[in-house]
Amino acid sequence: MEEKKKKLTTASGIPYSKNEDSMTVGARGPVLLQDFVLHEKMAHFNRERIPERVVHAKGTGAFGTFRVTGNITKYTRAKLFNKIGKECPVFVRFSTVGGEKGSADTERDPRGFAIKFYTEDGNWDLVGNNTPVFFIKDPKKFGDFIHTQKRCPKTNLKDPDMFWDFFSLNPESMHQVMILFSDRGTPHSYRNMNGYGSHTFSMINKNDERIWVKFHVKTEQGIKNFTGPEADKMRGKDPDWAQRDLVNSIEKGDFPKWTLKIQVMTQEQAKKFKWNPFDLTKIWPHKEYPLIEVGELELNKIPENYFRDVEQSAFAPAHVVDGIGYSFDKMLQGRLLSYPDAHRYRLGANYEQIPVNRPLNKVANYQRDGQMRVDDNGGNKPNYFPNSFDNIEADKSYKEPPMQLDSDIADWYDRNENDDDHFTQPGNLFRNVMNENERKNTINNIVSHMKGITCDKREEIIERQLGHFYKADRELAIKVAEGLKFDFKP
Ligand code: NDP
Repeated sequence: MEEKKKKLTTASGIPYSKNEDSMTVGARGPVLLQDFVLHEKMAHFNRERIPERVVHAKGTGAFGTFRVTGNITKYTRAKLFNKIGKECPVFVRFSTVGGEKGSADTERDPRGFAIKFYTEDGNWDLVGNNTPVFFIKDPKKFGDFIHTQKRCPKTNLKDPDMFWDFFSLNPESMHQVMILFSDRGTPHSYRNMNGYGSHTFSMINKNDERIWVKFHVKTEQGIKNFTGPEADKMRGKDPDWAQRDLVNSIEKGDFPKWTLKIQVMTQEQAKKFKWNPFDLTKIWPHKEYPLIEVGELELNKIPENYFRDVEQSAFAPAHVVDGIGYSFDKMLQGRLLSYPDAHRYRLGANYEQIPVNRPLNKVANYQRDGQMRVDDNGGNKPNYFPNSFDNIEADKSYKEPPMQLDSDIADWYDRNENDDDHFTQPGNLFRNVMNENERKNTINNIVSHMKGITCDKREEIIERQLGHFYKADRELAIKVAEGLKFDFKP
């Protein structure tokens, strides 16, 4: 039987008869002001774009499932982990960082790996990257840093001068720079990379004991990267390569999977750790802090509508659920503010009501009104607390234990010396983790990018950056200098 046709309507549901011709005086025009349908069509079109994310603008996403495979209940009381085999729905968004919405997927850049776990206790967002560290360790530097990765204010071009000027003046970037310029800076696809929560978080168990924790999301597809020249080629051939790869593999039933693992550190161990355990430019060595398996993440559904679910998805490191907590990590503390702030700017104060951001459990609070309030807005119930009418309680069982601190409030200029060891870990990575071919590619990738430094401070910038490379690894600095034909005297 033929399906009954739906009527074409305006946004207010009024059926109308003509969608392609404007109402005119005579067949040849002019157009009448009273053609409301024409206004509505043009006006809505003009408003289709919302602000692009200032970072992580180009991205793709998928729904899936997280399943517990390891028992970590001695570390956390988070309900999503409380039983082997327990499942939790997730939404994941992958992205590049510095490029605009139309930029190429194979750019040399970290990749965002943000996971929203829709738990029974509300949404937990693990808003990570494909690297375990970051370029800076203090959020006050973030805006400046990102400016150097984006376009020059004058030429509107990506600018190796400002890129390397900033890095050479911020040696704390060394570790992430090494990863960025290894072939892991150009992953073959989102399926072939790991994710990392990167920050130190904490976990709290049912006895109110807190432990520090790092999250690792290891690809089960295997790590696979483009070399620099392969990535450049793919940029021209298919700028949307990584998005296409994810969509195609999920649509044909080849569901990508990752294993969630954690590293844990006791408060006592943290006091004795040779680096600051809350420093985002450092990892915790696996040998000392082994990976513990937690569960498996599978992505199995591409959203039916990209704008609804991917463009409007909003993740925030501030969103942790009972049993998971923050740490002193300064970058994490900065992100607790900046992510929800960015979403309120892009999507409005009620962004949590957008379907992809909505928790599964019932929201109960006294927030009311605001633009685009589209639920029942609390109906006729009280909009203040405490009150004598509704039955909402602030449940004390969700209370966190205190975080102990033994310090003064100050602008700390003199950090402890190991906070300023920017070179041991990147040196280890270069010497002990990379094989010969990876070292060669890393050097070539650095050389080809640094060749773009052309400003009148070129000598100074290169000299300074080579000094940092030298402190990480002698061979690295010498080979980069050779590649640049730069007379470097360590
Ligand atoms: P391990 O040998 O135990 O671990 C090395 C880690 O490096 C593995 O997780 C591996 O990931 C990853 N890796 C391999 N090649 C690269 C690359 N080109 N760029 C970034 N990561 C890579 O050593 P340690 O734990 O002692 O760490 C040594 C160094 O390894 C660190 O300084 C850091 O640079 C890097 N690293 C360490 C991590 C950690 O949490 N300890 C995490 C990621 C990197 P995989 O096994 O998935 O291939």
